[in-house]
Amino acid sequence: MSVRVKCPHCKGKAVITNSNDLAKEITDVFYKELYVQCMAKDGCGARSVFGMEFKHYVNPPQRDVISMARKILEQQEQLNIKGV
Ligand SMILES: [Zn+2]
Repeated sequence: MSVRVKCPHCKGKAVITNSNDLAKEITDVFYKELYVQCMAKDGCGARSVFGMEFKHYVNPPQRDVISMARKILEQQEQLNIKGV
C-alpha cells in the first residue's frame, strides 16, 4: 500500500518517517500510527502522528461468504427436520 501524506498544518510535502502497527495480530482489524515529518520548502517543519485504519469490507473475504452460506443452509435443514 502506497500512501502520500501532507503536513496537516501547512499542507506542504511530508514524509512518513516511522510507523507502529497496532493491530498486527488481530484478524479483520488494521490500525497503524504513522509518524510524519513536514518537508515542505518554507514549510513549518512540524512532526505529527497520523492514524490509518481499516473501516469495513466492500466485498467480504470469499471464504467467509461460503462458510456463512453453508451455516445458513445447515440451520434451515435442521429447522426442516424439526418441522416434520
Ligand atoms: Zn508543515
